[in-house]
Amino acid sequence: MRALRITLPVILLAALVLIGLPGCQSTQKSMNWEASLGAVPDTPLDPGKLHKQLNIKVDLIAPNRYGRKGKRPMKAKYITIHSTQNYTGDAYDHARALKRGALKGGVIGYLCWHFTVQDDVVIQHIPTSERGEHADFDGPGNRHSIGIEMCEHSGNNILATIDRTAKLTASLMHHHQIPIENVVAHYHWPRKGYDPPNKNCPHFLMENGKPRDTWRWFVTRVHRHHQRIARWNAMQNPAPVPVQAPPTGPDPATLPAEKKDVADIWRRPSQGLSA
Ligand SMILES: [Zn+2]
Repeated sequence: MRALRITLPVILLAALVLIGLPGCQSTQKSMNWEASLGAVPDTPLDPGKLHKQLNIKVDLIAPNRYGRKGKRPMKAKYITIHSTQNYTGDAYDHARALKRGALKGGVIGYLCWHFTVQDDVVIQHIPTSERGEHADFDGPGNRHSIGIEMCEHSGNNILATIDRTAKLTASLMHHHQIPIENVVAHYHWPRKGYDPPNKNCPHFLMENGKPRDTWRWFVTRVHRHHQRIARWNAMQNPAPVPVQAPPTGPDPATLPAEKKDVADIWRRPSQGLSA
């Protein structure tokens, strides 16, 4: 009995280590990723410089073709993050496939999204003022969100891809006035008629198919990149220093001559009094 009392906790602990604690594992994953990438600095960042760093190549699907058929204007309110789950195609391959209508699906017969990101480049496929076909058919994800796909092809540095995506997202938040609460995973948009309705996407930022610790880590990085832009903006447009009204006093014109000097000092800005 005594032996059981000692060995049972040991067995339980060993079992937990072997099967792993999902929460701890995911926290460890995001901690390792944060250590590899380095913390986002808190220095101000010029959004124009960030835009250049992103290395965005604009290679749009021809107007009115495939995923851009018809006029489908959009006012972006959300940013939706995906991953391609394509282990052979890079960002250029996806751009070519979209331009020749090779990716079928969605409500108009062709898939399309706004940006594909890999470790060293971002390629834009449709304007951010047009809706895409990447999330939830005719749902709000497609009608109101900018779609970003992260590449997963072999040889691609996934961490560099994640951080380039975080910076692109921060830049889009700035240009379209989108709050951090509206940066969502594809998972966020249920797909009618699918089981499960919420897709495990982007899968490498999910835990057990759901946005948990690793997703929160990603959104925190987006937020920090965005805060750098906000700091730069605050430097360009500093809040006006409130001007203190000079204290009021008797009008010197109405005072006898001997009191005028004192009254003049009283009506001057205060620096004259403290000197
Ligand atoms: Zn997706």
